[in-house]
This record gives sequence, C-alpha cells and structure tokens, in this order.
Amino acid sequence: MRISELDLPAPVKEFYERSGIKELYPPQAEAVKKGFLEGRSLLAAIPTASGKTLLAEMAMLKSISHGGKALYIVPLKALASEKFERFRQFETLGVRTGISTGDYDSRDEWLGDRDIIVATSEKADSLLRNGAPWLSSLTIVVADEVHLIDSANRGPTLEVTLARLRRLNPSLQIIALSATIGNAKELAGWMGAELVVSDWRPTTLKEGVFFGRAINFQDEKRVISTPGPDEVLALVSDTLAEGGQCIVFTNTRKSSEGIAQKVAKSLSKKLTEEEKAAFQDIKQQVLRHAETDTCARLAACVEHGAAFHHAGLKNEHRRIVEDEFRRNRIKVIACTPTLAAGLNLPARRVIIKDYRRYDVNYGSVPIPVLEYKQMAGRAGRPGLDPYGEAVLIAKTHDEMGELMDNYVLSEPEHITSKLGTEPALRSHVLSAIATDLCRDESDLYDFMDTTFYAYQRGDLSAVIKNVLDFLEAERMVVRSGDRLNASELGRLVSRLYVDPLSASIIVRALEAAKKRGEPYQKEIALLQLICATPDVRPLYLRRSDYGWVVKYTEDHIDDFLTEVPGAGDETDFEAFLATVKTAALVDMWINERNEEEITSFYSIGPGDVRSLMESCVWLMHATAEISGLLRAPVTTEARELAVRIEHGISRELMDLIELEGVGRVRARKLYDAGFRDRETLKKADEAAVAAVLGEKVAAKVLAQLGRKDVAATTGPDDTIGQSTLLLF
Ligand code: ADP
Repeated sequence: MRISELDLPAPVKEFYERSGIKELYPPQAEAVKKGFLEGRSLLAAIPTASGKTLLAEMAMLKSISHGGKALYIVPLKALASEKFERFRQFETLGVRTGISTGDYDSRDEWLGDRDIIVATSEKADSLLRNGAPWLSSLTIVVADEVHLIDSANRGPTLEVTLARLRRLNPSLQIIALSATIGNAKELAGWMGAELVVSDWRPTTLKEGVFFGRAINFQDEKRVISTPGPDEVLALVSDTLAEGGQCIVFTNTRKSSEGIAQKVAKSLSKKLTEEEKAAFQDIKQQVLRHAETDTCARLAACVEHGAAFHHAGLKNEHRRIVEDEFRRNRIKVIACTPTLAAGLNLPARRVIIKDYRRYDVNYGSVPIPVLEYKQMAGRAGRPGLDPYGEAVLIAKTHDEMGELMDNYVLSEPEHITSKLGTEPALRSHVLSAIATDLCRDESDLYDFMDTTFYAYQRGDLSAVIKNVLDFLEAERMVVRSGDRLNASELGRLVSRLYVDPLSASIIVRALEAAKKRGEPYQKEIALLQLICATPDVRPLYLRRSDYGWVVKYTEDHIDDFLTEVPGAGDETDFEAFLATVKTAALVDMWINERNEEEITSFYSIGPGDVRSLMESCVWLMHATAEISGLLRAPVTTEARELAVRIEHGISRELMDLIELEGVGRVRARKLYDAGFRDRETLKKADEAAVAAVLGEKVAAKVLAQLGRKDVAATTGPDDTIGQSTLLLF
C-alpha cells in the first residue's frame, strides 16, 4: 500500500514521501484496513522498529487536520524528549507540539494551543487531577509501550489515566503501541480497539544461543571468526570484524561497566588513526560534564570506542553515548535492561549476557520472555544492517537447549493489571473523589469497573473499601450520607501528586512540629521526614553503614519528627536507619559537598543522586504546601529546602541561584569572591566578575541584572547551563 493512496491531507503525504517513506510496511497496511485513519481505536502489537510510531503519527495528523488535538503518552522522560524532537518536524505542516514534563501540580495551560502534547503517564495523570482545561478537547491519545500496564510501578497510573481520558471523551480515539504480548486480544478488547498483531520486521532477526565456538540458530549454526575464552569479547570482536555494532545487555551496572572496560581494552590494541581522533572527541564531550569517578570511567572507555549505559549515568552522558552510537562512532554499548525500553537505538548484534536477575523475594530468577524479546528486538538497523542477531550465552549443552526452548522459541507472556492493591489504588481513588469524577461509592465502583483490572480480573470493591477506610481515617475523604467529598487536605494531596500514605506521614510529623512550637528549623528532621515517605525510595542499608548511621541517628535523636522505633524492633529500626542514611545524603548535597565525594561515599552513580533529588524536591515542596494548609511552623523552611535541594546549595547562595546559568558551582565561586547577592553583582566591575566566571558567562549574568554596559554575547547555551546540576 502506497502512502499516496492514503486518506491523509496532501501535505502530510508529501512530508512522508520527502523523508523517503513511500510504501507502508505490511502491519501498517493492515492497520489502515482496520480503519485507524477513519478514527477507529487501534492496538498495534508489533516488534520494535516496525513502524509503530509512524502509525501513531499518521493517526494524530489526520485527527489534527479535522481540528483535533493529540496527547502522546510515554513511559519515560527520556522518551518524551525523543518524541518531542521528532514531532517538532511537523512544524512545517503547521502542527505545533508541546512537551509537558514540569511540576506535577501545574495545569500547563499554555499547552492549550498545541496540537500534539507529549507527556509521561504520571504527568498526564497529574494534569487530569489539576483539571487542565484543554484535556476535554483531546480527540486522540497515543499510549506508547502500553505493555507496561504490566509493571507494578507504572502500570496502574497508565491504566487509570486511559480510563479517565475515555470517560472524559467516550469517542476518544486510542492508538496503543505495544511489544508483542501473549494477550493482545484481551488488551484490545478492553480498549474497544481494532487489533494488529504481527511478527513482521523490516530487517530479519535471527535469534540464537552461543555455546562453545558457535551461535546456534534455529536452522543454522555459525562458527564465529574470533573465538576466545571470554564469550562476550569473542562475540563482540566477531561483529566488529564484520563492520557491525554491538549492544550487550547485562543485569547489573557494575557488570555493564566491567564489560565496557574489558571491551575497551581489547579494542585499544587495534584502533586506526581516524578512530583514535573520533574517540578523543567523544572523550572530550564526556569530560565536559565530568565530576565523578563514574564519569572518569566512562571517559576511559569511550576513548577506545566502547561505553556503558545505565541509570547511574548523568543524562548528558547517556545522551552522548546514545548519539555517538547512532553515529556509529561508539562501537559497543554494555548496558542494563533500561536501554531496551523504548529508545530507538538498534545494533547489528545484541548480546543478552544475563538472562537471570536478582529479585528481592525469590533470589535469582529468569527474566520474562517479553523482556528478552524487547532486548532481542534491538538487533538490526533497518536499511543499514543486512540482518540483526540476538544472542544468548550458554555454558553447557543442556543450558543451550533450555535457552532455545524458553526464550528463542517461546511466546511472550500475558500481561496483567497490577491495579488491585491498596498502594496502587490509594492515590487514584482519592483523585477520582477530589476531582469530582466520582461522587459516591457506587460511582467509584462504576469507574473502577472500566479499568483493565476489572476487565481482566474482576471486582475491585474489597480493595476500594479498604482504601476508602484509610482515606477517611486520615481525613482526606469525608462522607456525608452517600456522598463522598474530598477534604481540603484531600484535594491538596491529590493535586500535589503524592501518595496519600506519604501525605499522612507528613501530616502526623507536622502536627508533632506544631506541638514543639515555632520556628522549627532542624533541617535533618525535614529531610528525614520526606525520606520516610513511600514516594522516596530510601538507600539500601549495608552492614558497613550501621556504625555511622546509628551514631548519626543518636546525634539527632531529639530532632526527628517521625517516631524513632525502639532498637528492639529490629526491622522497623533498620528501615528507619535507611531513611536517615538517605537524609544524610541529601544533607551533604545541600551543604555543597561535591558530587564525587557523595557518589564515592555512598557508592552510587551521579544519575542516582539526581533522581533521588528530583523526588526529594517534590516531596519537600509537598511538605511546604501541606504545612501551609495545616499552619504548621515549617512552611518557610520547607520552601527554602526545596530550592536548596533542587540546586544543591547552602542557604547563603539562595539569592545568587536565581540567576540563569548560575548553578551550585558558579554561585559558590561568586560568593567566595565577595559577590554575595544580586545587588552586589549589579554594581560589580565587569572584569572582576569575568575573572570568576569567564567573560562570556559573566556578560550573560550581568545582562540579566539590567546592566547596559555589558554586551551579552550569544554563545552556545551549554556554556551557561553547565554548572547547573539539576535542570528542571
Ligand atoms: P517503532 O515505533 O515500531 O519502534 P518507528 O515507527 O520508530 O518504529 O520506525 C522505525 C524506523 O522505520 C523509523 O526510522 C521510521 O521512519 C522508519 N519507517 C517506519 N515506517 C516506514 C515505512 N513504511 N517505510 C520506510 N521506513 C519506515
């Protein structure tokens, strides 16, 4: 089926034809036949890189051409940026795209004039809670990676968000994009969508198991050209010898780094001059953002054409690795499975080194087939590689047979809803009441009956009853007769997008602070409080931490606002110590200890520091708001702390941090040089400021203060953004 034959506006067809897409892929043609361009909902369960996004794009552009508006929901912020960049290309068609990733309690009204809005499912949910007015004009919603409904963490939010959007507009067109899953028909049934299921791929995918010296595919055996004792190295060298690139999936960050180092070492022996120059360039890019050991290790790997990629990396570094791999300058990436989720980063050969993963409840368990297929699906760059290869590694002949049966020849599992637990439902029940979506208990049951859980697994009323009891006991929901109303606290908690259990922990602590009288300024108490909520994942307490964390706890024993469990109650006490350990990290951060010191003391990556701080900023902001409502004496302190956590600064830098392009490092330099606030800077000698910040940045900073005597040069933005560690 040709693009030119489609029922799409002529400029849209020209847009695609200009980009080289003239003929639809077979699953795309099937989707057209099923009526998605006439407004029918569609679930496309087809492999990665088989043109799912293109389907969504066409459906959105068609709907927009009739005056409609689209919401594109993705599971990760990184994916939101990737899609946003892609959809911005539609500007030439007069289609405006917006991305909504900001604070959870904003309504983002400016998005009202955008035609496509890209958001994570959490952000979409928060927009519903905050009553973003433009949501009612949506005509189409795309749910990308919809199989993540199966995820205990994120699935419930996606599921409830889709149910709410459909309630808002029953004729809403849903385009759901999924990996191949066992029960696609069931999922489509829930969404009232047409279904396209296909194994078709633009490049052939060969799946096999490496054992001894050969990759055993289903119908052939290939002896590799570069055998050696280390399987991964042998497989990598073999791919590179054929001019391909490799992604190696492994189950821990440490192992991803170890593999990258090993590969880098082996590559270092055979680099051409041209490669050396290219790799030096990548190394310099990495070093531009380097402050920690992890960065130094990454720089040492990319210098030889290999890299690692995991959630402990800074965003800047992840992006460099992804971009340079796409440009075929980085040859090998060793990564944790996070890379399999969505990012468009194909490679000739994908090596799945570990098919087992550690699970807290069950120890080492084999990964699901669905996950294996997602990783394997990364193999083969359309139009560039003749084929893609996904390779598992077996140590014994028996294991080879097992891997063949359990992965290569297996169908992916069924996905199941994870909505049926109190932690998953608490926040959605509160939000349904707070936003007046449901006015009484039977309304609530009716609404929850429209979720995938109800469709698939049945009645949720028993769990909902327990959740309602909790919300009433915590005074977030009030009953009058049959009517369910959210209290002022309940409405605030729903808008703030925190777990009601977190809010109840905060409320109790703030009531304790009230009793102590004001002003209450013990920083560690507020930090420990937010780290004690289920919205902040505390750091793991290692045996070696015990000594110092217990001492730290004893030093602050009178300060804490949450109850300190008795040492006799071992499990609770350990959980408490973990919250203190986490709070102590935040304390180091806001007292300007450098990133290197923090990451090496805690043995975590800079990316972990960032994601921890992101949740802490949010919870501290929520604490300030709740404190304001309860008239507790910590509102100002919590507000200040939220700013300090966001930037990693002491209180004395709070004025300087307001300047654009001034992060914790530059603010400290300015302060120590005697420029203690913006007022002082306003009158400062330009050359003296330039001596601290460099000429370009100094000019930009002074220009913001209304200084007419400086000419702000328009250098690249990254020079001004560099020292701000947390960019929201
Ligand atoms: P998915 O979302 O399934 O991973 P994408 O829609 O991102 O896949 O498509 C992967 C690549 O294939 C993109 O570069 C896209 O432009 C290209 N592509 C999609 N459909 C076609 C087509 N019909 N003909 C040629 N290229 C296509």
